[in-house]
This record gives sequence, C-alpha cells and structure tokens, in this order.
Amino acid sequence: MDADVIVVGAGLAGLACALRVQREGLRPLIVEAETRAGGRIATDVRDGFLLDRGFQVLQTWYPAAARLLDYAALDLRPFYPGALVRIGEDFHRVSDIWRRPAQLPEMLVSPVGSLADKLKLWRLRRRALLGDLTDLYNRPEQPTPALLAGLGFSERIQARFFRPFFAGVFFEPELNVSSRAFEFVFRAFALGDTALPARGMEQIPLQLASRLAPARLRLGQRVERLEDDGVHLADGTRLRARATVLATDGTAAAALLGREAPDTRGTTCFYFAAPEAPFEGPYLVLNATGGGPINSLLCPSNLSAHYAPAGQALVCVNVFGARHNPDALETAVRRQLREWYGAQVEVWERLAVYRLPAALPLQASGVTAPRGALRAGEQLWICGEAAAPPSIHWALASGDDTGTAVSRALRADSPGPRPHTAA
Ligand SMILES: Cc1cc2nc3c(=O)[nH]c(=O)nc-3n(C[C@H](O)[C@H](O)[C@H](O)COP(=O)(O)OP(=O)(O)OC[C@H]3O[C@@H](n4cnc5c(N)ncnc54)[C@H](O)[C@@H]3O)c2cc1C
Repeated sequence: MDADVIVVGAGLAGLACALRVQREGLRPLIVEAETRAGGRIATDVRDGFLLDRGFQVLQTWYPAAARLLDYAALDLRPFYPGALVRIGEDFHRVSDIWRRPAQLPEMLVSPVGSLADKLKLWRLRRRALLGDLTDLYNRPEQPTPALLAGLGFSERIQARFFRPFFAGVFFEPELNVSSRAFEFVFRAFALGDTALPARGMEQIPLQLASRLAPARLRLGQRVERLEDDGVHLADGTRLRARATVLATDGTAAAALLGREAPDTRGTTCFYFAAPEAPFEGPYLVLNATGGGPINSLLCPSNLSAHYAPAGQALVCVNVFGARHNPDALETAVRRQLREWYGAQVEVWERLAVYRLPAALPLQASGVTAPRGALRAGEQLWICGEAAAPPSIHWALASGDDTGTAVSRALRADSPGPRPHTAA
C-alpha cells in the first residue's frame, strides 16, 4: 500500500484534501502530472519580474481561504476597492462606498451610471449579502444581465461597470453567467479585500504544499486510470491506496471519468516591462469604451515591489479569449495602450504572453454548491472543479470537506485505535 488516500492533482483542491487527510492521522499521497504543485495558480520568474500565469486575485473574505491559509505569511497587498474605468477619453474612479465612504460625493457624480443606478447598488448589495452560501446557491437562477435589468439597472451602468468588471472575473464578455455565480463573487468583493500575495499568487499553493509531510507529493506523474483502491500512471506504474480522490481540473476529470468535457472560457494575459508605471496606486483599470481588445489592466508592481526589479514597473493587460494570434493581438493592444497612456508605451517591452483557453468552466447555468462530498465509486471521491464551482474558495472548501469525508469513511471501515495525528 503506497498511501491511505491517493489524491490526483496538486492544485488547491488536491492540496487542501491531502492536508485534511494528513491532519486526520492518515497517509495521503498526491500524484501530480506537472513538475510543480499549484495547478492553475502559478507564478513564473522572468528577468526579475514575477508573472502570475493569468491575472487572478485572492478574495480575503473566502471562508475556506480565511480558515486554511496564513494570510499574514502571504503578506497580502490589497487592491483599491473599486476600479479606474476608461470611458471615452478619460479615466473615472469607481469606489465601493461601503469600504470607502469618503468617496460618496465622487461616486454620486461619476458617469458610470445614473443616480438611480447608484441607489440600486444598495438593493443589489443587500440581496447578495443575504443568508449563508447554501441560501445563495439555492436561489432561483437567471442570467446575470436579466438579474441586473430586473433590479432596474440601466444599460449605461451595465456597459460601464458591471460588464467590464464582472465579465473579466468570469472571462465571459457578455456576462452570460448564472446569477448565483455573480452574487457569490459580488459578495466576495463586498466583504473583504481583493489582494495579491506580495511575492506572487503561487505563494498560496506553496504555503499549503509546505505543510505536507515529506514524500507525500509526487510531481511529474500523470494518472491515466482511476480505481477505488489506486491509480495507474502513464508510465505503467500502479499505485495502491485504500481510497482515491480525483482533484483535477474539470477537463481532466471528465476524461478520467469518461464524461463529457465541460465548456470552458479563456483569457490572454500580456506582461510588459515599463520604465515606470502609467499610473499610481493599486488600481484595476477597466475598459468601458466599447472598443479595443483590452478588458482590464493593472500594475502588480504598484501593489508589491517584489513584482518588478528596482527601477522598473510591471504592466499586466488582460483580453477575453485565448484563440487570437498573439502578435496581431499585441499590435491591437499596444494601439489601445497608446491611446490611453501616450508615447511612453513605445518603450514597454513584452515579457510574456499567457494564453489560457481553459481558464474557467462556463458558469452560465446549473451552478450549485456541493452538497456533501461526492463519490464516483465505493472509495473513489471527487473534489475541485468536477464537484464544485470554480474559485479559490470552492477548490479549498471542496478539497478540505472531501478530505474529512474520506478519512471518516476509512476510519469507519477499520474500527480500532485511531492513528496518531501526523501534522
Ligand atoms: C487566469 C485565471 C484567473 C482566475 N482568477 C481567479 C480569481 O481571481 N479568483 C478565484 O477565486 N479563482 C480564480 N481562478 C480560478 C481558480 O484558480 C481555480 O478555480 C482553482 O485554482 C482551481 O483549483 P483546483 O485544485 O480545483 O484545480 P487546478 O488548479 O486545475 O489543479 C488541478 C491539478 O490536477 C493536475 N492534473 C490534471 N490531470 C492530471 C492527471 N491525469 N494526473 C495527475 N495530475 C493531473 C493538474 O496538472 C493540476 O495541477 C482563476 C483561474 C485562472 C486560470
């Protein structure tokens, strides 16, 4: 027996699952196809810059993240609660006035929406914060544009704020996402900071992986077939355990379970090295001009100096979809950047372009919270994206809950003295 529980995949779900199994006094073994842990959360180091593989953020409100991560050790750097929105020829600041009440006068005159729209934000906020998460995911589901229109929001605020901001979260330009997914994300923005770890997003999985006992993580080993009591690797090795947990991304999970692959949404992320940042402050910049390829832009080095070498700045530009020709897209991106920031853009150097076609599954409908741990066989369990909505919260929560469930099931199978806790 190689372990009590084999966990397939070392993303956040797999790491959280294995750590829970370990805490329950059993021996986990994570088998990961790639040569690093972290799954979709990765940070590359290039010429002294930290490049997160695709723009993503940690929402400090996420209940599972608050419970399982050491935020102080991550040295989190928060974004401004709001955004800078490009409308026509100018940038306008939008603020979450519950978190920045002093900005109320500025918000009331901001061109992102009418006064009536801004008052309606109260209603939306009250609705999105009502009840617990089970409650939220049990609400009748509708497309988010229908929810917003039903609450009386004008097309102007949808085009100038909701679409650029939230479509960028889901990589879905028309915000064709379930109202449940939208309200979950709205709640996260409302109740906590949106932040980056000072040394890059990969610090999140690295922190979890560092808590695993030695030799509990095997990298560079792809699982080809699952069984209740173990896995078959691509190199022909068979690993045996008392239970198996599938913790891969949705596409890989579907292949291993013989199911239909989920529809996914992609994003393309450009990184540029600049002699200086085009603006000051920890802002997310949104494109509400109605034209051009850019969805959003930020300078991670404005949040944490670790993101760029001394005397330089890092600019991150995000575009919907991942099918474009990167060079042609860069030309269009630079054209728009020049309109926004002038000639300084000419000297920006492209550091990298990340094309991520399967960044997230489509969340158009049927979005539900997991109701207990999911099994695909007597001792074959599923967590992560095949069992829960995508997000850092749900990856951690479903991994942790599945770790508890599988440990309990194994203990029930073998009554006797409980093994001592390994970590
Ligand atoms: C660009 C981008 C932006 C995002 N933005 C946010 C955000 O701002 N906030 C947020 O909450 N979430 C965001 N997300 C989503 C979030 O990152 C994911 O939901 C979460 O990291 C998924 O974790 P996971 O463990 O379920 O899956 P993954 O991270 O996909 O991990 C699965 C692991 O399984 C491994 N694997 C696959 N097949 C096999 C196999 N056959 N054998 C062995 N191993 C295998 C993979 O290599 C991978 O390491 C974003 C994602 C992306 C890509």
